[in-house]
Amino acid sequence: MLSIKSLASSIMDLEYALRQWKDILGASHVIADRQQVANAETATYSTTQTISAIIRPGTKEELQECLRTATRCRVPVYPLSSGKNWGYGSRVPPTDQSVIIDLSRINRIIDFDEKLGYVTVEPGVTQRQLYAFLKEKRSNLWMDATGSSQDCSLIGNTMERGFGHTPHGDHAGFICGLEVVLATGDVLETGYSRFANTRLGPLNRWGLGPSIDGLFTQSNLGIVCRMTIWLMPKPDQFEAFFFKCNRPEGLSQLIDALRPLRMADILRSAVHIGNAYKVLGGISQYPWEKTAGKTPLTPAQLTAIRSRMDFGVWNASGGIYGTPAQVSEAKRLLKRAVSSIDGSLQTLSERKLKFARTFAKPLSLVTRRDMRSTVDLVEVVMGLMKGIPTDSALGSAYWRKRGPIPNSPDPDRDRCGLLWYAPVVPAIGADVAKLTETASEIMLRHGFEPMISLTLLTPRSVYCVTSICYDRDIPGEDVRATACHREVADWCAQEGYLPYRLGLASMDQMGRDTGFGRLLQGIRQTVDPGGILAPGRYEHRDAVPLA
Ligand SMILES: Cc1cc2nc3c(=O)[nH]c(=O)nc-3n(C[C@H](O)[C@H](O)[C@H](O)COP(=O)(O)OP(=O)(O)OC[C@H]3O[C@@H](n4cnc5c(N)ncnc54)[C@H](O)[C@@H]3O)c2cc1C
Repeated sequence: MLSIKSLASSIMDLEYALRQWKDILGASHVIADRQQVANAETATYSTTQTISAIIRPGTKEELQECLRTATRCRVPVYPLSSGKNWGYGSRVPPTDQSVIIDLSRINRIIDFDEKLGYVTVEPGVTQRQLYAFLKEKRSNLWMDATGSSQDCSLIGNTMERGFGHTPHGDHAGFICGLEVVLATGDVLETGYSRFANTRLGPLNRWGLGPSIDGLFTQSNLGIVCRMTIWLMPKPDQFEAFFFKCNRPEGLSQLIDALRPLRMADILRSAVHIGNAYKVLGGISQYPWEKTAGKTPLTPAQLTAIRSRMDFGVWNASGGIYGTPAQVSEAKRLLKRAVSSIDGSLQTLSERKLKFARTFAKPLSLVTRRDMRSTVDLVEVVMGLMKGIPTDSALGSAYWRKRGPIPNSPDPDRDRCGLLWYAPVVPAIGADVAKLTETASEIMLRHGFEPMISLTLLTPRSVYCVTSICYDRDIPGEDVRATACHREVADWCAQEGYLPYRLGLASMDQMGRDTGFGRLLQGIRQTVDPGGILAPGRYEHRDAVPLA
């Protein structure tokens, strides 16, 4: 609790900093208007942290000056690249009275090399911008895209170690040559980028000496102002596969069947697996009429809906990339691997998809199923496997909202409840089954549909995203969602299924002081002596408080 004296002095510090920032950036890029600031305090679940102001530097040099001012005035600041960290806290900082540094104006694509397959970007560069850039260049390189908005930044997502759908889906694994601005305003470069006379900066991660790129993801040690992303050469052939499990026990078998194919690099990209709740939430809103307004949707009601639609208890999809011979061999091995599981496997080339689009309308008439929306959905999923960003998954945030999905979705503004917890689990069928069964039981008991997706992002571990999806306008739902999230998080932590990233609601899972924590604390004291940069972000519980 702040004393009256220190409260008065921190208000004076802030007032002084705001005047300085206006001198550096111009008044229009320093926002203290209560309404605009309050919008940024709204996430997709209940949070309490307040924001004092938003500042918008337009260059690295302005950012350096702004940070020097923040350090001098001892004002906590929190960087955002595009601020769409939905499900994990959106724009809300971990510490009260922080000033947001909105980096979206620092948005140049500053280097690109078709031959060596890389692009170098600033923090405000979005998925939409990079995709348009590659198209304009008629590039034969593919980016990787997340399933979130096209307007999400590339750097913000990578700072959280987010993931996508192509063989470059594990974003932090395909970057190098960071330029980082520290809280003191100093700048450092990582890998070979720090040597002035070499072209290796964007090509090789390691450089000489300790490799420090990792220090700046999931941390509060600096603001990444430039990052190189390695792009994937378009393969000779690309096909998608879809596997539908008919029974719940198929999940465990499927994981054990896919793991060897991931480990042997036969399947090179992330394989995504969604349960029936997740699929339904991706294609429709809550069936209020069929349930007479009652929630949650029970497993029996779900089965009835599923029987009229074409998806399984668990639904896997992934891309197959390579030469025609490699793709055909991968398909053969995949077919063999899943042959004993009760379910069905389909593979789809782009040619077949084009054909399906042509005949979707007449087929709808014959089958009495809406084949056009099925084809639309498959097209989006296959697009993601080729790194084509989309906004179409955003509608899923409106699952429990009574009104229609707006044309420009904004889950924060529209009070969509979205609270994610993302444990990582060994790629062993029994572990994955244990996690999904327990998480489902907990979520249903708290009154929420267990929307679960699983991603074989790396050969040996599976990233699970449990999604509590609700309507924040319904009194009491925020409290119930938070309690449910806590129970899932506590159970997972106790079982050793720790998350791949933390949201505001689970930041306490960084653990207690250890050698790891002490080392980070030492580094932080050196690079940010005032402790002003994103205090509380990925810090262990015994971290040194703001000086
Ligand atoms: C329907 C839906 C689908 C989604 N699908 C995916 C998905 O497929 N994969 C996925 O990973 N996520 C997904 N998300 C979650 C989220 O929307 C994305 O991860 C998104 O990219 C994060 O927001 P951002 O890029 O705007 O980052 P920001 O919100 O700008 O930043 C994220 C965090 O990184 C820090 N940060 C930002 N910029 C910097 C910087 N320059 N230097 C240092 N630290 C920085 C911030 O302080 C913040 O804590 C999804 C969300 C929804 C609602």
